[in-house]
Amino acid sequence: MEAESPLIEILLNNKVKILKIGKYNETEFEQLINSLSIAEKDRQRILKKIEELGTIDVQRLSKELQLSEENISCNIEYLKELGLLGFVGEKPRFFQDVIENSEKKGVFPSVNLIKERKLCSGCGLCVSICPVNAIDYSEGTFEIDDESCIECGLCYSGCPRSFFPKVLENLEENHDPNVKFLEELNYYRNIYTAQTTYPRIKKVGQDGGIVTTLFKTAFEQGFIDVSFAVTIGDEPLKPLPVLVESGEELLKTAGAKYTNTPVLKIFHDAKDYNKIAVVGTPCIMKALKKISFYPLNKPFYNNVFIKIGVFCMKSFNYDKIVEILKNEFQLSPSDVKKMDIDKGKFIVYDQNNEIFDVPLKRINKYGRFGCFFCDDLTAEHADISVGSIGSEPGWSTVIIRTKQGADFFQKALELNKIVKKDIEENSINFKELSRIAKSKLKKYVDQYPVKMIEQDPKIRTTNFEEVPKGLTTELVKLETQRCLQCGLPLCVTGCPVNIKIPEFIKLLKQEKFIEALYKIKSDNLLPAICGRVCPQENQCEKTCLLNSLGEPIAIGYLERFIADWERKNKLKECPECAAPKGIKVAVIGSGPAGLACAGELAMRGYDVTIFEAFHAGGGVLTYGIPEFRLPKEIVKDEIETLKMLNVKIEYNTIIGKTLTLDELKEMGFKAFFIGVGAGLPIFLKVAGLTLNGVLTANEFLTRSNLMKAYKFPEYDTPIKIGKIVTVIGGGNVTLDSARTALRLGAERVIVVYRRSEVEMPARREEYHHALEEGIEFQFLTNPVRFIGDENDNVNHMEVIKMKLGEPDESGRRRPIPIENSEHLIETDTVIIAVGTRANPILTKSIQELELTKWGYIKTDEDGKTNLKGVFAGGDIVTGSATVISAMGTGKKAAKAIDVYLTNKYLNMN
Ligand code: FAD
Repeated sequence: MEAESPLIEILLNNKVKILKIGKYNETEFEQLINSLSIAEKDRQRILKKIEELGTIDVQRLSKELQLSEENISCNIEYLKELGLLGFVGEKPRFFQDVIENSEKKGVFPSVNLIKERKLCSGCGLCVSICPVNAIDYSEGTFEIDDESCIECGLCYSGCPRSFFPKVLENLEENHDPNVKFLEELNYYRNIYTAQTTYPRIKKVGQDGGIVTTLFKTAFEQGFIDVSFAVTIGDEPLKPLPVLVESGEELLKTAGAKYTNTPVLKIFHDAKDYNKIAVVGTPCIMKALKKISFYPLNKPFYNNVFIKIGVFCMKSFNYDKIVEILKNEFQLSPSDVKKMDIDKGKFIVYDQNNEIFDVPLKRINKYGRFGCFFCDDLTAEHADISVGSIGSEPGWSTVIIRTKQGADFFQKALELNKIVKKDIEENSINFKELSRIAKSKLKKYVDQYPVKMIEQDPKIRTTNFEEVPKGLTTELVKLETQRCLQCGLPLCVTGCPVNIKIPEFIKLLKQEKFIEALYKIKSDNLLPAICGRVCPQENQCEKTCLLNSLGEPIAIGYLERFIADWERKNKLKECPECAAPKGIKVAVIGSGPAGLACAGELAMRGYDVTIFEAFHAGGGVLTYGIPEFRLPKEIVKDEIETLKMLNVKIEYNTIIGKTLTLDELKEMGFKAFFIGVGAGLPIFLKVAGLTLNGVLTANEFLTRSNLMKAYKFPEYDTPIKIGKIVTVIGGGNVTLDSARTALRLGAERVIVVYRRSEVEMPARREEYHHALEEGIEFQFLTNPVRFIGDENDNVNHMEVIKMKLGEPDESGRRRPIPIENSEHLIETDTVIIAVGTRANPILTKSIQELELTKWGYIKTDEDGKTNLKGVFAGGDIVTGSATVISAMGTGKKAAKAIDVYLTNKYLNMN
């Protein structure tokens, strides 16, 4: 035996352990190693050739190596996934991050990665192929026992949800003239509607009883020794995979089971049988096809006589079925006689034959996450696919796919075990099948997320116009097609204001733009703002299931599109308000927290007034974030929506100075929301802070944005900018300051950040934009002092190099100065952007208000402070955060204010 890859080496190193466990005996172990070695040899030859030619041109490699194109394509996928084709620019799709951080090269991770990314379909193959029995699949999902695991990666390489080579998708006899192709059904020979002739099977079987009949026939004819089936265990309805050795035994298992069963976990137990029949959902068929190519278990895959696949929209595990029964029907499994899916409904028959049903749509949310990753309704990788869609009651739709399937089906017909009718391609039944299969086709796999058109970096640094230009309707259409419409959408849970993202995307896809707008505005009144500045990559797009595959839906772009479409069409849609309640509420501060709170309260019928210290609304949206990222017209426009909800705004009113909270009470306000932000700049503790040319980002950006200094002398606020500007920090404020300085005429702008690029909290998109614009970055560098000339104008900054130590309380690695690494940077303007803290003007004026030791307002989860009727949210509670999180706290507080006021003033009895 020759060891060629870490996989084989790991198995050989663990031979004693594997043999002791007893899953493989000595001969079987040798067979496994031999089959892997044969495959490995091909793979090594292919890899060498790619290195020699520097290309992955399949045709050329096939010619040079005299191997089939299928073989080459599949091995390329395998090598790519192992991270071995990086030198020709081919990156692994599913676990690039794992490979980059792994010391071991050329070996797969464990299938735990699939579980983490919620992609598991529950086929159970990993259990079967693990040579050390380290995987347990009993409670709806698998668990890996780390102690037993030898980290060989066999489980991952066999998993159908890891990487599935494109070429395997349609390998099926595509040169045979009898084979037809339809995108939604893949390759097939014939489609029938068929029914059993066994009266007993008709009684217990589902639809036409075809699977049971075909397997029974196979037993009777001696075609098979064993078949995979599902039986009920001690718990009612709980399905257990079993091996069945006769037609009679098989009959006992007939009936409907809608929970997905890890059927392939018993695959290994079937290795002593010569002729095996397997039935299962599309993912199970896919798993079989994958291991048949990567010959992990080829010795016993060769024994599969027939594979019957059953149609599947989505799968549920047993626990979820119990939940559905409890929540939707108030039934327990022991009350149930039979379950069925028909005509878009999930149907339950109880022990008295009473029928209950709910639309399938309603139970989507109980499905497996990973199921939305599958685009196969009709089990394309089977020999014969069977389902009810496209047939009359009591009949099954049968798709014959392979020659093996065709011969076997023909035999059953000749023996009169079944009867069939053709389904013509222009028949209603065929159209129905085609329509539903098409609805499950997902285009996301090969379709990349859309890109926005952006202003050229060279041009945009000379103006303050917005950088990205938004999506066209065409691009929106493409992007919405990629959405999986998950039953339990993770994107919604990732959004702090829980926008109903899939519903909104569905409406966009149908080009129902007004409806899409209403949908989004019912949860978020500031979509044009959030679509531009929300860190979606850390929120909705991070939790999007497609992110597990690399490219999430561009939710932010879509949100921005619909808001811009509204403005472009001069519409002004806003949600309906409840009848006026005649109760006054004061909102202090017009930042995102205040605006969201005011909007939510207005919709609930309250009489809301916002008090704002500045002469313009929007908080940081107006005075902090620059025009080229968020045009002020847009902020104004979204504030107008609030006015349509009858929200009043009093500008130039500093609560705590112009008016006190007590005075507001005297004016009749019954509840208060404080959303005053945390805008007081933090200074560095270094020498030279008072030199001319050293300023805070807060002052710099406020001058530029709010006072329109960038339009001086048209506006009367000047701003002085030097030739070499250094900006200190690593967040959004830093990049906004740096990019503003460039636009105001700086020749060089250098960002100095004490941690590394990875730790930088700024939005990735903005970092990317800054790089494009020529901003320089000096990472792991920290200022020591600022140095000035004889007129006290700053001209240098002394800095020290840093290294990263252990993570600090923020979870980021702590920067530590490197001794004797001090050096000078030439600069004539220094902008300090190292964070902000709470401004005490308001909080000091309300003496009893409880604060944290840093001066932020203490609240409970709903925004309630220690004072009756006083609520708070946004940065003044959380410290500097994000627009959407501030909005989330504002909305939450509005709901709590509603409860407070309802109890106090409206539920008088
Ligand atoms: P603020 O937006 O600060 O609003 C508070 C409002 O209260 C202000 O209008 C203020 O004038 C007013 N006020 C204060 N005191 C009083 C008083 N006593 N009486 C009356 N009114 C008062 N977040 C993102 O999600 N994405 C980004 O890209 C992003 N970029 C940023 C860039 C910059 C330059 C800055 C500074 C922040 C950025 N943030 C970003 C953070 C985000 O803007 C804030 O987290 C968010 O605005 C906080 O909202 P808020 O309503 O709590 O406070």
